[in-house]
Amino acid sequence: RERALLAEITGPGRTADGHPVPLLLNVGESADLVEDGEGVGLVRTEFLFLDRTSAPSVEEQRQAYVEVFRCAGGRPVVIRTLDAGADKPLPFLGLPEEDNPALGVRGLRVARVRPEVLDDQLAAIARAAVDTEADVRVMAPMVATVEEAVWFAGRVRALGLPAGVMIEVPAAALRAGRILEVVDFISIGTNDLSQYAMAADRMNGDLAALLDPWQPAVLDLIALCADAGRAAGKPVGVCGEAGGDPLLAPVLVGLGVTSLSMSAPSLPAVRASLAGHTLADCQRLAGLARDAGDAASAKAASHTR
Ligand code: PEP
Ligand code: MG
Repeated sequence: RERALLAEITGPGRTADGHPVPLLLNVGESADLVEDGEGVGLVRTEFLFLDRTSAPSVEEQRQAYVEVFRCAGGRPVVIRTLDAGADKPLPFLGLPEEDNPALGVRGLRVARVRPEVLDDQLAAIARAAVDTEADVRVMAPMVATVEEAVWFAGRVRALGLPAGVMIEVPAAALRAGRILEVVDFISIGTNDLSQYAMAADRMNGDLAALLDPWQPAVLDLIALCADAGRAAGKPVGVCGEAGGDPLLAPVLVGLGVTSLSMSAPSLPAVRASLAGHTLADCQRLAGLARDAGDAASAKAASHTR
């Protein structure tokens, strides 16, 4: 019985009827890695690039990635390439200031204008993967088109690694099926997806109600991605804050999301929440939330079951 209790607190993510939902970690540097969780669903690599006037060398990056991959201890790791832009400015990139950074040259768009920055990072990731024999997958931030996904996946696969993209732009969610034809997995960044779907700046606290991932329009976009993933037989994760919300987690699973990635403190509550719902419960909650007229009633409908 003690062992059963321990599994409930630290074991793999499962619904009450045993449907597996891997629970993964969002991390920055390796110090954020804890033993809990079935893998790493998002390594934000910006920490290596901040406050610098020159780019970190391939060797410096390799060492940092080796440390992250080692700390993952054999669990799968999804590492995200640099997500910079005028919103997270990096002096060494020498990019011009923009009036509207959230809609500017950010995420993978930076890699398109400075491909050598991406290629150095991918080289370092590939070497670190070989050095550690870790199960590494690489994903791009802020992808808007299938063409961008093709461009990115080609570069990643040339190094022998699986490639995925984040779905953060509604255009990409609408074309998730086409994108999944050219990548190995997708991971939904609900923070940015909500911002762009609702046209509401995620840095503007006055717009919190619009930015709510319970917005039925955002749930519809997530459902499109999940349906595309099911049709393609490929994984569809969530790695935005929504993935760590114990009330939203069953709804996401009900929509068809296959894994949830979150910061470590969120793991126990999400695990307990999934363990309290069968897959059919999750699907019913997802239906109720999508049928709701607005975010508040979507949330309320799921609360009262
Ligand atoms: C997101 O947008 O949901 C996401 C996970 O990326 P970030 O929060 O780093 O923009
Ligand atoms: Mg994002």
